[in-house]
Amino acid sequence: MRRVADRLLIAGVGLIGGSLAMTLRARGLVGEVVGYGRSVENLRVARRRGIIDRFERDPERAARTADVVVVAVPVQAIAPVIGALVPALPTRAIITDAGSVKTPIVAAAERILGATAPRFCGSHPIAGTEHSGARAATPDLLGGRVCILTPGTRTATTTRRRVQALWEAAGMRVEEMPASAHDRVFALVSHLPHVAAYALVNAVADADRQGTRRALAYAAGGFKDWTRIAASSPEMWRDICLANRDELLAAVDAFGASIERLRLAIALGDGAAIHAELTRAQATRQRIGAVPPVRARRLRAQRGARRSRGR
Ligand code: NAP
Repeated sequence: MRRVADRLLIAGVGLIGGSLAMTLRARGLVGEVVGYGRSVENLRVARRRGIIDRFERDPERAARTADVVVVAVPVQAIAPVIGALVPALPTRAIITDAGSVKTPIVAAAERILGATAPRFCGSHPIAGTEHSGARAATPDLLGGRVCILTPGTRTATTTRRRVQALWEAAGMRVEEMPASAHDRVFALVSHLPHVAAYALVNAVADADRQGTRRALAYAAGGFKDWTRIAASSPEMWRDICLANRDELLAAVDAFGASIERLRLAIALGDGAAIHAELTRAQATRQRIGAVPPVRARRLRAQRGARRSRGR
C-alpha cells in the first residue's frame, strides 16, 4: 500500500484522531504526523505515546506543511477549526473531518473554503468507545469497521479518492452517502441510543434521590450494558444533539411512541400485546447480529482476565 500523507495534520488528537494516526503509523503509511489541539496536556500525552511527532498550538504553524488534514474535534468546533487552519494550508492539501453529524459540517466547510471547497470531503468513521482523549487512542479501533464519506456537490473526485485511501489505509471499509441520509440514519442508530442511555441513567438516579433504596447499587449486567455509552463525553454529545437537532427530535419522538405502546400494554395488563412487542424486537435484534469485532475482542480479553484472577 502507498503512503497516504507525507505530512498528516490531526486537529483534535483524541480517541478518533489519535487512533487514526496510530494505525497509519503502525502500518508505515504516513510520514510526519503533526498534532493540533486545545490543551497542551493532551498534546503532550499524544507525543509521549508516539501518536504524533510534534504538536503546534498556533493554527498557522500547524497547517503550514500539511498535505492531509483530519479535523477530529467535537462537532460544533469543526467549522471554526477549519476556518483557523485554512489560511496557511498549502494549495494541494486536502481536508476531511470525523464528525458524527454531516449536513451542517459539509455546508459550513463549503462556505468557509469558498473557491477551494473541492478540497474538502466529509467523513464519519463508524467506530468508537465511551473513552476520550489521546490516552484512549488505540491502533485497533478502526480496522474492519465502516467509514462513511459524505462528499458535497463541490468535492473534487481527487479529494474523494484521497480521503477514501486514507481511511482504507487504516483498514476501514468505505461507503458513500448523502449527508442528509447519513444524519437521518445515525440519529436513529447512534444519537438516539446515546440520548436514551443518558436519560435512563438520570431517571434511575433521580428515583434513588427521591427515596428508592439505592437502586443503582444493584445495577447489574442489563443496566450496565445499556448505559455504557452514557459514560461518553458530554461535550461531544451536546454538540451532536445541537447539530442534528431535527433528525434527533424525530428519532426521540419515534422512541417515545414505541415506549408509550409498551407502557399502555403494561398498564392494561395486556400480556399478548407485551409479548408481541417484545417478540418483534427480539427478532430484529437477532437479525442485526453480534457485538462489533473490537468490542467483542475486548470483552473476551476482560472475561479471560477475570477468569485467571478467579483461579
Ligand atoms: P475526543 O477523544 O474528546 O477528542 C477530541 C479532541 O479535540 C480532544 O483531544 C480535544 O482537546 C480536542 N478539541 C476540542 N475542542 C477543540 C478545539 N476547539 N480546538 C482544537 N482542539 C479541540 O473525541 P473523539 O471521540 O475523538 O471525537 C472526535 C470527533 O469524532 C467528534 O466530532 C465526534 O463526533 C466524532 N466521532 C466520535 C466517535 C466516538 O465514538 N467517540 C465515533 C465517530 C466519530 P482536549 O483533549 O484538550 O480537550
